[in-house]
Amino acid sequence: MANKLVYFFGKSKTDGGGDMKALLGGKGANLAQMTKIGLPVPSGFTITTEVCVNYYKNGRKYPAELPTELEKAVKWLEKESGKKFGDTKNPLLVSVRSGARDSMPGMMDTILNLGLNDAATEGLATATNNARFAWDSYRRFIQMYGDVVMGVQKKNENDHEPFEEVMDGLKHEVGVKEDTDLTAAHLQELVKRYKKLIKEWTGKAFPNEPMKQLEGAVQAVFGSWMNERAILYRQKYRIPDEWGTAVNIQSMVFGNMGEDCATGVAFTRDPANGDNVFYGEYLVNAQGEDVVAGVRTPLKISEMAKDKILGPAYKELVDVRKTLEKNFGDVQDFEFTIENKKLYMLQTRHGKRTALAYVKIAHDMVKEKLMTPEHAIKSGDPEALNQLLQPIFDLKAYDKAKKEGRLMAVGLPAGPGAASGSVVFTAGKAEELAAKGHNVVLARIETSPEDLRGMIAADGILTARGGVSSHAALVARQMGKVCVAGAGDIEIDYHKGVLKCKGVTLKEGDHISINGTTGEVFHGKIDTADSELKQVLVGKTLKPKDSKVFQYYDFIMKLADKYRTLGLRTNADQPDQVLNAVAFGAEGIGLCRTEHMFFEGDRIIAVRQMILAKSDEARKSALATLLPYQQKDFEGIFRALDGLPACVRLLDPPLHEFLPQSDNKKGQEEVAKQLGTTVAEVAKMVHELHEFNPMLGFRGCRLGILRPEITEMQARAIFQAAVTVLKEGTKVKPEVMVPLVGFKRELDLQVEIVHRVAAEVMKAAGKKFQYSVGTMIEVPRGAVTADEIAETAEFFSFGTNDLTQTALGMSRDDSGSFLPGYQALEIIKANPFASIDRGGVGQLMKIGVEKGRSTRNDLKIGICGEHGGDPNSVEFCHMIGLNYVSCSPFRVPIARLAAAQAALRHPANAPAAKVVKDAKGAKGATKSKTSKR
Ligand code: PEP
Ligand code: MG
Repeated sequence: MANKLVYFFGKSKTDGGGDMKALLGGKGANLAQMTKIGLPVPSGFTITTEVCVNYYKNGRKYPAELPTELEKAVKWLEKESGKKFGDTKNPLLVSVRSGARDSMPGMMDTILNLGLNDAATEGLATATNNARFAWDSYRRFIQMYGDVVMGVQKKNENDHEPFEEVMDGLKHEVGVKEDTDLTAAHLQELVKRYKKLIKEWTGKAFPNEPMKQLEGAVQAVFGSWMNERAILYRQKYRIPDEWGTAVNIQSMVFGNMGEDCATGVAFTRDPANGDNVFYGEYLVNAQGEDVVAGVRTPLKISEMAKDKILGPAYKELVDVRKTLEKNFGDVQDFEFTIENKKLYMLQTRHGKRTALAYVKIAHDMVKEKLMTPEHAIKSGDPEALNQLLQPIFDLKAYDKAKKEGRLMAVGLPAGPGAASGSVVFTAGKAEELAAKGHNVVLARIETSPEDLRGMIAADGILTARGGVSSHAALVARQMGKVCVAGAGDIEIDYHKGVLKCKGVTLKEGDHISINGTTGEVFHGKIDTADSELKQVLVGKTLKPKDSKVFQYYDFIMKLADKYRTLGLRTNADQPDQVLNAVAFGAEGIGLCRTEHMFFEGDRIIAVRQMILAKSDEARKSALATLLPYQQKDFEGIFRALDGLPACVRLLDPPLHEFLPQSDNKKGQEEVAKQLGTTVAEVAKMVHELHEFNPMLGFRGCRLGILRPEITEMQARAIFQAAVTVLKEGTKVKPEVMVPLVGFKRELDLQVEIVHRVAAEVMKAAGKKFQYSVGTMIEVPRGAVTADEIAETAEFFSFGTNDLTQTALGMSRDDSGSFLPGYQALEIIKANPFASIDRGGVGQLMKIGVEKGRSTRNDLKIGICGEHGGDPNSVEFCHMIGLNYVSCSPFRVPIARLAAAQAALRHPANAPAAKVVKDAKGAKGATKSKTSKR
């Protein structure tokens, strides 16, 4: 390897620094940085992540020059510390720790006290005048090394730890209870037995030579990059395998040499609520692992101030706390050791924190000028903002339910928060009980638009089937409902009205509680409470000035707005959803799914009349009944938007979704009665409308093309509503969006109708209004012929739910059966229905953007698939130059922060300045016919 393999940090020289995380890993870079700024760090060196990458590239082989480089580095460290490896008087001991670019706590291996052998242990005993300590250090080292490097580990979960077993045996023989009761002589005997154990298990002797020990340890740390735990962790947190880990080798200091020694971990502020208090704990006379292992109960860090021996070290720690925040510009967590009253810093990193702590800390530290505004944005986890919106289980009740074994099943956490109430199995029952003031959880095998009323009425939604973009999940997110989807262990029997799971049977009305943040389903009641942020923004029961949480959140959101170049819209089809979304920061509607309105009240009767009509006359009459309903809906939406743009999609779903299917005879009877026809007739129509593949069938623009009167009615409702609201003095900006377009001619046919109706409405009302007509790009043909389509379309919106389905040939409703398997086999890294498949679907989007803008260079392009609220997808949308993302109201804050992060990460990728300004611009009319927002 041509590059430098080893970087030093110590008194005489420090090669690295805090900005070298990619090469030195987080731990190595920060050790170098702490050394540089004069904090007391034991000297050491870091083997770069490049060596690890190289190790894997070459079939788990070190670069040839590594042993020589290691030897040189050890020589340097010996000089630096004035101690020698394997010395019989004052031996150098080191720790060997992993350190990836992003911290992966506890995922990889660590070895302490390396360098000890029989002779060196004697040396340590002399140097410290503490034989017990020396032999205890040695046995700990052998134990760790035997486990991590030589693989002496329990073979399955029920086995005992082999080393623990040997120690217990000895304790029993000598008649002591605690480890601490073992004398130096006992520990010396234990060392012998440990070595014997290693020989028996591995056939190899424990290595005596410190350099050999070091080589083995380094290799083990590199090896642990690919252990199962680390791989899983990286998958979850999207850490690339290619990064590799660094290895840090550092002189040991000891917190376990007596009462003037201690070890601890601390945060510069409270990571749970963000309070500006010194937060941490420590143990006197202990090694770091004792704090983590929880064998002894540590003391609060503030207690140390009162400690006569450790008091001065506490004062130093208080200074360290300040220095760290000032230098690292964030809340730091750190590990320290006090050896004979002297403080040493062993590591530091940005402290992990809850969403509440994140907003408070960012707010406070930016104001205190300790944190840059850019870092305040970059360091947030957009997804975690959800935590601020969730109703929560009362913690005591939640713990009690778990202890009582009431957990029945775990499904997909599809809508975060907690809900508890009576379980019901039909939308009607949900409405009925909710109207009586009951909390209800609607449990369905899966949901469909027919269940919408029930979903609105319910506190929570539970399904036995379906994935993250299933109907239930999508609607739950849009409404901010708590939802657990696809809890496969649950069986629901609609006929008997029961839900069964693992021997528990719940009847309709029985209590059930679901946790949409974790996917847990419990039987019985668990009390919940509304979040503060929701009380301010949604319920408006709390004033902003009375909520600190709101003020911190608002500070971050406004800061995000300064950086983001993407516009923000919402998927909403009711005025209350619009108001919520706008309160969260949405700048318009990116998708109004008109079909959701068709299920409300008795309009479904007219919809069915329209579908089942035998003549044009009958169909027109049904549509005439629907028109005023739709118009009223749009009026409500335009009023709620108060001048912001509304992208309204024409009817999209296959018509059969509006009719009771053949397994719902009661529903068919009801429809027959409502429409004055026979059940046989209804059944026949249902049969005729049946499709084998409805998602690829008679839906989308195909409906409006072959039943143009539907498009005509919808366009008329939109424009008449626009006129009504305009006349009230409120600006309106309707954007009519045609779904599922793959051919320019499809769009042309629909646009013709929309323009004609617009002209008619303007003429009749004697009033002009602005509007535009565009299309969804949600089939591959639409994307690859985007240049042609853009000749007609005034805007594009990527429907990535369907685009993923059609590009991958994977049904969005059925993919749950094989996607987890695909993920396990690493065919796909993430669920493509949740996070854009950049390599496939993303490329189609890129083509769509490039081709679309080759025809219209200022073409406004957004996204309205579920991906619009996924941070990783938002970043991609920014990178390919979209103008806005649209997502469900309760995900708007997430997209808002994600968009700002994307802008900071990819400053060059913002779309053309003019279009951005229009997409983010202030309210107000524009001159051209095309709405600019
Ligand atoms: C889409 O396909 O991405 C979309 C937004 O439309 P729907 O989910 O309603 O099919
Ligand atoms: Mg679609």
